[in-house]
Amino acid sequence: MADVSRRRVLQSIGAFGGASALNGSVQFAKRIPTPNGALVTHWNLDPWARGSYAVLRPGATWGAHRGATRVAAQRFVLAGEAFDQVAPGTMHGALRSGRQAANELHAAITMTDARPVLIIGAGLAGLSAAQRLRQLGHQVLVVDARNRLGGRVATSRTLGRPVELGAAWIHGTSGNELVNLVAKQGISQTPTNYDDLVVRLPSRSTISPSVVAAAQRQLSSAVEKAQAEGEDSMSLQAGLDRVAYPSTALANWALTTEIVDEYADDPVRLNLEHFNNDEDPRGGDVMVGGGLDRLVAKLAAGLPLRLSCPATAIRPTARGVEVATKLGVFSGSSVVVTAPIGVLQSGGCPIDWNGFGAQSQFAAMQQFSMGDLEKVILTYPKKFWPNHQLMGLVGTPSQRFAEVYDLSTPTQPMLVAFTAGAAARSLPSSDAQTVALAQLALSALL
Ligand SMILES: Cc1cc2nc3c(=O)[nH]c(=O)nc-3n(C[C@H](O)[C@H](O)[C@H](O)COP(=O)(O)OP(=O)(O)OC[C@H]3O[C@@H](n4cnc5c(N)ncnc54)[C@H](O)[C@@H]3O)c2cc1C
Repeated sequence: MADVSRRRVLQSIGAFGGASALNGSVQFAKRIPTPNGALVTHWNLDPWARGSYAVLRPGATWGAHRGATRVAAQRFVLAGEAFDQVAPGTMHGALRSGRQAANELHAAITMTDARPVLIIGAGLAGLSAAQRLRQLGHQVLVVDARNRLGGRVATSRTLGRPVELGAAWIHGTSGNELVNLVAKQGISQTPTNYDDLVVRLPSRSTISPSVVAAAQRQLSSAVEKAQAEGEDSMSLQAGLDRVAYPSTALANWALTTEIVDEYADDPVRLNLEHFNNDEDPRGGDVMVGGGLDRLVAKLAAGLPLRLSCPATAIRPTARGVEVATKLGVFSGSSVVVTAPIGVLQSGGCPIDWNGFGAQSQFAAMQQFSMGDLEKVILTYPKKFWPNHQLMGLVGTPSQRFAEVYDLSTPTQPMLVAFTAGAAARSLPSSDAQTVALAQLALSALL
């Protein structure tokens, strides 16, 4: 099972022995120090995530969000990050989606039913749905397949301090409810300054900031032009081809860091419309430190929970719902399903869509697909990289690890390198080999 437990910590030099199999790349990578700790994520292989966050497929319509989340048979509703129309793929989008589903279900069901509302998933959407339903006077029961809370919010403490394997940034602080929620838990928030960036070539030479900024502007104008001239719902790739977006190494780097890593998928799998409707991230972004697991614990406080309890069948009964799990069958008045899109589509959370009369919700849900964003987090005995929050690496093989963030504290040098889309899905299954690939990319920083 590819949960947090799967993300092995490679604590010794010996753990990287497998890297020597990588055709000459290791020799190159040897120039930089060897990490003394590493975490490699596998969201794509995680059976309870099947990727990082959802995107709208080419050919889909923006209204899919609304269609998927209509209450069916007065007792079934979907929620989760995918379905927030304002900020999909984010923590605050997931929170909002859960709350909205709770409000709509409350309006649809009868209050005289004393049975609990069953909530599938103890991520942010499930927890916020449960808290809201409780506020509205309902009994609730939350079940999750994992042995921990939080879903795609996952804090690891194996490197000696809290490190986020899933969500780590609050995107758009202005008016964002997460800012206060996180502050109340004593979790720090460090503003991200996207201008504090150095971009390097494999030769280790630095590209001038004005050239980098021009490449970023060129990409945003190309996307805008593609949206203005393209047909509805075409892929971003088709749109960029239409406006002849260049394929230089720097143009590819801009595309990877601004789009692929951000939306967790390749232009060919992204809907051109996707970029029209995103929330304007006002107020800048902050990175949280100190463990989002504390926020999750707060959101879960007082809720009846069953962990290590995958739902294996969700079906209607004459007057309610039934959820079969390996811990037994639970009966409820209604159900909120927050399993990720990738899990729903792969049958990991089987729902009797016809029984609930939820065929249109099923069809709307199929208009999304799961993106993938993976992280490699590395600690070193000594810092060897330039003093910048963000580092860009142009021309890395398969565009992997084109973006790196400095997570160092005064006593612990640490980097996180990102890769997304097909490059993330095709990472080697061996963590040692993945670390070697990251080392190869990072050698440009020496
Ligand atoms: C690598 C990565 C980086 C990210 N970075 C950011 C970021 O910086 N900022 C940001 O805002 N967002 C970020 N996100 C997205 C954010 O984490 C998600 O949008 C949000 O946490 C999703 O919450 P959710 O409740 O919709 O889904 P989840 O958190 O996935 O919760 C769904 C739950 O359902 C459970 N489940 C699945 N199947 C079953 C079943 N059959 N039975 C019972 N339970 C089941 C799962 O175990 C899971 O706990 C990132 C995500 C990833 C993976």
